[in-house]
Amino acid sequence: MYKENNNIPIGLSNFVGVKYDVKPVSRSGYDRKDELGPLKKLCERASINLKTVKTPIYDVDEETKLVYISKDQDKIEEAIKAEHKGDRNRIGSLLGYPSCCIDKFQEKLGKKDLLKELWKQKGETSYLMNTLYNFSGRKIPEKDSIKKHFASSTFYLPHQPCSLDCKKSLKMAKEIRNGLKKDFPEQEGSIRKKLQGTFLYFDDLNFATFTGRKTESGIAYDEVLTELSNIEDEKIMRAIDEGDNIIEDEGLHIRRGNDSILNQEDGTTIFFE
Ligand SMILES: [Zn+2]
Repeated sequence: MYKENNNIPIGLSNFVGVKYDVKPVSRSGYDRKDELGPLKKLCERASINLKTVKTPIYDVDEETKLVYISKDQDKIEEAIKAEHKGDRNRIGSLLGYPSCCIDKFQEKLGKKDLLKELWKQKGETSYLMNTLYNFSGRKIPEKDSIKKHFASSTFYLPHQPCSLDCKKSLKMAKEIRNGLKKDFPEQEGSIRKKLQGTFLYFDDLNFATFTGRKTESGIAYDEVLTELSNIEDEKIMRAIDEGDNIIEDEGLHIRRGNDSILNQEDGTTIFFE
């Protein structure tokens, strides 16, 4: 078990993924060199290699600072080359993503709402598949609230799954959870708390989570967990404040008891068990 400050830019799940051989390589962007201190320490102790590069990637014009970690230095070099060439299949497989998810990701790439299709699937959904706070692959505006979520690395699954019942992704998330429980039990508990429960989703940057419960046709709620929510539309936020339940039936209906407060064409409710 590790006790130090473990706020690492790559995210604890990505670190644990490499440490327990769930992923050959992990990588992420970072801002400043001094952010890397805790990550370097963790890697040294687990005999994991680390390399930083400054490079233009894909369709991003500016140079991006990236940090790669792997037990195998050759795999890091290979990942850097693949990234340079824009070989998304190769980089996806080096990062340990299932091929079904790599294909789906490329299909949706560049579209505004990477996750929309995913959350519209209904049914039992494990909190292990909740990637709302995993901003990899999404275009993030320079906004503090979003960055805060990003820095907190609140996810088990390091990639966006092809579907909510992608068995390979679920297996990977379980393995990562087991590693987190072993090495970072406290943080694992807080990650789980943030990912379980009732969510309201409009698009990849506009969603809210509540204390509440699932009902037959939507959710009944007590309050919005503001620090975990990010809905920009004030009209919607006011309606949520006034209301206490949301019905989903050809659109979203925010209500107080049976009284309608706001009807929205888009949006979906999700419950992560
Ligand atoms: Zn998949």
